[in-house]
Amino acid sequence: MPKFFIKTYGCQMNERDSEQVAHSLLARGYERASKESEADVVLLNTCSVRDMADQKALGKMGMLGRLAKERPHVVFGFLGCMAQARGGELLKGLPHVDLVVGTQKFHRVADYVAELVAKKAARPEVAPYQKRAMDDLRFSIVDVAEEPGSQSTIRDQHALHLLHCSADARRGAQPFHRRHRA
Ligand code: SF4
Repeated sequence: MPKFFIKTYGCQMNERDSEQVAHSLLARGYERASKESEADVVLLNTCSVRDMADQKALGKMGMLGRLAKERPHVVFGFLGCMAQARGGELLKGLPHVDLVVGTQKFHRVADYVAELVAKKAARPEVAPYQKRAMDDLRFSIVDVAEEPGSQSTIRDQHALHLLHCSADARRGAQPFHRRHRA
């Protein structure tokens, strides 16, 4: 079975969301990889306000481009707050990124990963990073849509983090997206 690796930035809420994604992948038979170089699926669960976390995540994904050249079957994805804030814009300049999933769609990640793993296995002519056209963004999956009826839940979950994130925002961090305005 494919192995996955998740790197998490940001707060405890993101740690919890990463574990939720990990459990959903484990339930499908995926295995954890101890490092990204051994993984078939590499996911970065991002933060958009703390400690230059967005720049760290972008830099990390940029460096993973080298791994994408060596292991073209690997699925790469952005999850979480920065993914929510930036959406499909994250695909520009990072053509190895296959997946962008926002804060309300963590429960869909395992489905999307399975779809992308199968696509890459079935279309080896598309998978190699070197051959993939820069404009072949149709291959990628971007889901930052709101989940119907989720607003009160999201608001409740994020209320405890509001003060921390507001403080970060006052120090100049950005973008200050809707996960913190709840
Ligand atoms: S809720 Fe705020 S602190 Fe937590 S990961 Fe998202 S942007 Fe970062």
